[in-house]
Amino acid sequence: AAKEGQRGTLQVCDTSLKRAYAARRSLAKDLEHAVARDELRLAFQPIVCLATRRTAGFEALLRWQHPCRGSVSPAEFIPIAEDSGLILPIGQWVIREACRTAANWPGDVRITVNISARQFSDSGLVDCITAALADSGTEAERLTLEITESTLIRDDGGVLGALETLRGMGIRVALDDFGTGYASLSYLTRFPFDVIKIDRSFVQGSSGGANHQVVVQSICDLAGKLGVGTVAEGIETEEHARLAREAGCDLGQGYLFDRPLSAVDCAARLAAERLGDVLALRLAEGGT
Ligand code: C2E
Ligand code: MG
Ligand code: MG
Ligand code: MG
Repeated sequence: AAKEGQRGTLQVCDTSLKRAYAARRSLAKDLEHAVARDELRLAFQPIVCLATRRTAGFEALLRWQHPCRGSVSPAEFIPIAEDSGLILPIGQWVIREACRTAANWPGDVRITVNISARQFSDSGLVDCITAALADSGTEAERLTLEITESTLIRDDGGVLGALETLRGMGIRVALDDFGTGYASLSYLTRFPFDVIKIDRSFVQGSSGGANHQVVVQSICDLAGKLGVGTVAEGIETEEHARLAREAGCDLGQGYLFDRPLSAVDCAARLAAERLGDVLALRLAEGGT
């Protein structure tokens, strides 16, 4: 009877695996047409200076509006795009669209783009970025590329070469989700970075525990000694913001400041900030 039960369990697993596989296949098929059918959009989440709360830049985050399923999470479709190779044309679209949008912002506002492992081992990446910058008129110094540790695990020698070429152009490179990989510290010694993005699991910590603060503090100290900048991810409360700032973190990103926004809402946010500057200046002048 036990054997029967086991076989039954296996069959259930097998069926749900098959179902998951079929769902993935069908999403992969739909994703093939997503660019041509204009179903992809970029959302932009502000990255702010923790001391002043001013917008230092935006991270471009991909959104897919599926005709039947509605909004599909990048956590679901990016892995599919990576496995199928579709991340190459999609990634190129993201780079062009992000640079095109940033070209409309004030010159001191940066744009950050996530780059997958597959894109880094593609010889066309540097050309695509060069063309996107030239066509949009966005300066290379305003662009930051975010890569995760999984990008570096697949290092075939090409990644380091591409990183050095891109940094030579004035582009910055950020190590995303720092601390969540298997060998975070070893990457810092093997690859050149300009920014460390501290993963939200450390920034938010667990309620009551104090160790996460020690970890954030240590990452900031390390970053300072290496001469690289820091961004605290996942800031949802004033307490998260305060702790990150006290640890010495320069920049922060999270729902406390804003959710990922449409390009129109980004422009409105930036305009409101500039208007605030003008009013503050007028007040200061009027007061003296
Ligand atoms: P990521 O690069 O680490 O981006 C940050 C994620 O955290 C985003 O999720 C963002 O919406 C979310 N987030 C921001 N603030 C908060 C907060 O305060 N609390 C919490 N809980 N979450 C917050 P999203 O947009 O769902 O993207 C998920 C991941 O998908 C990204 O993680 C990135 O790895 C990947 N991704 C998104 N767009 C692209 C893209 O254009 N290309 C590639 N290769 N990957 C992308
Ligand atoms: Mg990112
Ligand atoms: Mg991240
Ligand atoms: Mg992430």
